[in-house]
Amino acid sequence: MYRMQDPMRQLHGISFTFQVRCVMTNIAGGLQTGAGHGEVTGRCEVLISRTYMINVNVLRDIISVHIFCTLSALFSIVAPQVIIAQNLAPTIKLALPVEGQLGKDFWIINYVDHNVTVGAIRDYQCGMQTYDGHQGTDFALRSFRQMDSGVYAIAAAPGKVVAVVDSLYDRNKYVDRAKGYGNYVAVEHAEGCITYYAHLRESSVRVRIGDAVNTGQRLGLIGSSGTSEDPHLHFEVWLNVDPFTGGCASRYVRWEGQPSYESAYTLLDADVSTWPPILDTLRERPPSASMIGKQDTSITFWSLQQHVGNSDRLSVLWRTPDNDVWFSYEAKLDRNSTYYYWWSWIRKPAIAGKWTVEYLRNDSLVATRSFTIQQAVSVDTSQRDVGGCILKNYGDVIRCTVPDPCVLRVYDMMGRHLKSIALDQGSTAHVLDLSQPAMLEIECAGRVLAKTMYVP
Ligand SMILES: [Zn+2]
Repeated sequence: MYRMQDPMRQLHGISFTFQVRCVMTNIAGGLQTGAGHGEVTGRCEVLISRTYMINVNVLRDIISVHIFCTLSALFSIVAPQVIIAQNLAPTIKLALPVEGQLGKDFWIINYVDHNVTVGAIRDYQCGMQTYDGHQGTDFALRSFRQMDSGVYAIAAAPGKVVAVVDSLYDRNKYVDRAKGYGNYVAVEHAEGCITYYAHLRESSVRVRIGDAVNTGQRLGLIGSSGTSEDPHLHFEVWLNVDPFTGGCASRYVRWEGQPSYESAYTLLDADVSTWPPILDTLRERPPSASMIGKQDTSITFWSLQQHVGNSDRLSVLWRTPDNDVWFSYEAKLDRNSTYYYWWSWIRKPAIAGKWTVEYLRNDSLVATRSFTIQQAVSVDTSQRDVGGCILKNYGDVIRCTVPDPCVLRVYDMMGRHLKSIALDQGSTAHVLDLSQPAMLEIECAGRVLAKTMYVP
């Protein structure tokens, strides 16, 4: 989800044969920006160097570009692609850049923003499925777990690989705009068109600079590197072209078969979990919890959906085995969203039996899930039996005793693996200093016995 304000959007609609000569100069060199350029109608010359193409992220961040035309008009801009885009009309057709099936394996959550006004948005259908300054199309997966299963970004058309970045951390859950594309591949096609495949998984890229690729060829795995908070592919067509055509977009149809514009509410996933009821955990797609054991302390119903709207009401009813409403929770939304998590959680009740959760949107039933509380016990927070491992809290220290050789894996609340600790049979004094909340996973003899949360 790369964002960038584009100072040259006012040039949209200008018509001229465009060939430009670019000279890159460091911004620190004192270049002027946004010089007068609204009247250009003549022929200019293009000389865009290979370096310019390859170092696109560097270019965007610290380099400005001069574009000289024969009319002596001077452009000095941060985002030259906008100008050039208006003057190319490539005829190549693009295939969808994700392996799998749209609407089943991946979803479009953000289109290109066609509204040139800062602070206002408009997608190609004059809708709101974008965000301010967004210059690509975002294809989202449903979870980090799906990301871990391996979903490939694939070449949208035949071409040649002109840029690869493959070494960056790929499990970001918060937007840091300074991080840009993260890991990405750029493919140059006929007629000067370049496609970018951004936010890929670390060390997943399967092509090298100079490789020729065909439509559908695997480039790398979708991840969450760079400016990204969920696993998704940011697909961008340079030079600043939206491959979609519609009432508020360009006249060029570039998809081989343009996907339909979806705006109806769609539930992508929903389940019951005993993992911590926080967004970072839900993004991991926590395992289903149909049986609630004595080690569990909370129960969360969570949902992931597309196209919730401003003033939508979402509600959850927690029903006891006797069908009484134990707890209900409702929220009224105050904005539109194309990709939305929502959840409700309860502390584990002391009523054994089969419970039901009903999830409603605007009073219509969306989903029903159930779980069984095996037995009602009071939870002793000083000592929890976790599948063969006894966790004892001593301030910020956990001591673990196991009957078999086991491995204790520790993850932070963003799902990052912190460390693994071998637990020998019969050991009693494995000490683990933790000052932060953590998720613990205990595996014995190749089988994961338990996952639990530790809160210091
Ligand atoms: Zn994006």
